[in-house]
Order: sequence, then C-alpha cells, then structure tokens
Amino acid sequence: MPSKLVPGVEPPAAAGDAGRDMAETWFVFRNGDLLVRDGDDPIPPRSASADLPAEGDAHYLGAIGGAGCFAIALTRDATAPDGHAFAGLRALFIRMPRETWHAAGRALQILEWDRTHRFCGACATPTVAVPGERAKKCPACALTAYPRVAPAIIVLVHRGDEAILARGPRTPASFLSTLAGFVEPGESLEETLAREVEEEVGVRVKNARYFGSQPWPFPHSLMVGFFAEHDDGEPRPDGVELDVARWFRFDALPVIPPRISIARQLIDAWVASRTGGPPLP
Ligand SMILES: [Zn+2]
Repeated sequence: MPSKLVPGVEPPAAAGDAGRDMAETWFVFRNGDLLVRDGDDPIPPRSASADLPAEGDAHYLGAIGGAGCFAIALTRDATAPDGHAFAGLRALFIRMPRETWHAAGRALQILEWDRTHRFCGACATPTVAVPGERAKKCPACALTAYPRVAPAIIVLVHRGDEAILARGPRTPASFLSTLAGFVEPGESLEETLAREVEEEVGVRVKNARYFGSQPWPFPHSLMVGFFAEHDDGEPRPDGVELDVARWFRFDALPVIPPRISIARQLIDAWVASRTGGPPLP
C-alpha cells in the first residue's frame, strides 16, 4: 500500500464528488485521538461516515497513492463506528507505518491550528481562510496566521565507545534517550545544541554534525538530529529536566527508544560506527 502523502491545500477540481471514493484516507480525530481500524493493523478509515458528528470543516491534506487525504475533527461525544476505535498518536507511533503516522501527525497539527486560530490574535475578529494557502487572515487588520512549527534539536554526544543517554523525571517510558531541547528565538541550531547540552548535563561539546530530522506532532515540533563530540566536563543530570544522565558503552546499552524514532536512529548509527559500519558524518 503506498502510504506517502504528497501534500496539497486544495483538492483537485476533477475530484469533485467522485473523489469521495473508497480509496480516500480520512484522519478523523476526537479530542486529539485518531480513529483507526480495530486490531493489529490500526489504519485510518477509507472514507468518513457522514453521520459522524464533525466539529468544523474537513481539511484537504494532499494525496496518498493518488487518492485524496483529509483531516476532520469530531465533537467530544462522538463514538467510534463498529470495528474502529480512537487511539492516541503516541501509542500508534510504533504500530503504524512511518509515512502514515507522519501524515496523521500533519493532520492533527492542521486541525489544532484551525481550532486555535478562529479569531485574530491581534484584534479578535473572526479569521477567514486564504484561498490556495494554508493560512488564515484577519479581514479587519490583515494579520495572517500560518501553522506553526517549533524546531528542537536532538543530539547524541559521544566519546569513542561511549555516548551520553539520559532520562527525565517526567518521562513516562522506561527507556533512556539522547538529549533534546527547543530552539529559542534568535538561536542557531548549533547554539541551541551547545546550550541544551551544557544546561542539562554540564558537558561542553564540539564538532556538531547534522544527521537527519523527524516531525514530532506534540504539539508541533520538528526534531533536528545531530551528533556531537564530547569536549569537556562529565555528565551530571540537572535534576530538573533530567534525573539520570551518564555515559553508556555501545555494547552495554540500557533500554532505548523504539526504532521509528530519530533518537533510536542516532543511537543505531553510532553503534554501527563502533562495530565496523559506516563512520559518523
Ligand atoms: Zn485582526
């Protein structure tokens, strides 16, 4: 099944009513949870039943496998149709194909942006959609709002056969992970990386190298992954963001994040570089 979303804002004119066919993908949310088929293969429905109580309009997201893809929010009292259930995106992270999960994350972020930008942030006039764009404009003062993306860095700090892994007191999961933090206004990614590592574990780093990125829809982040070499200082958790932070050898790792996550991809690439695989960037 092709699952990659080709983004779009307006449905193709040709789609019309005929576009509402069984090949469509509908990301149907209720209070932030996604409607999926029950069972081991939790995919979103192929069409949205007209009798589901919608809250607001459907949003066209683009096409998956040539067929339309839509997002819609239901009222909080909506119930799942037979054979379906609502599930949180975090829980679906390791159960859905990566591309489908990312498309669902896009859907959730656009619905949330729609819900929270119904009125102008400057003068409180109701906003209107801008044709052909993912934007809302104030008819009184012309302020325009676009969906927001908040970049965050995620970094694997390494020193030969060891890397720093950490866990915060608020982390619900049992695994240890790489360090991460949000970019502040006016910062470069490299500056965020150096600041976060020093703040969270008291270590200075050098030679930051870009690895890759991953959208993270909680609520609207983009995780930008790096490797960085240890320069100075020994890890000590700050006690606020992190209560565990220390060196781990590549051959004695604790429980680490699931494979789909960029944190895990960073760890796997580093382990590979210590065991005869390609060197780090
Ligand atoms: Zn305004």
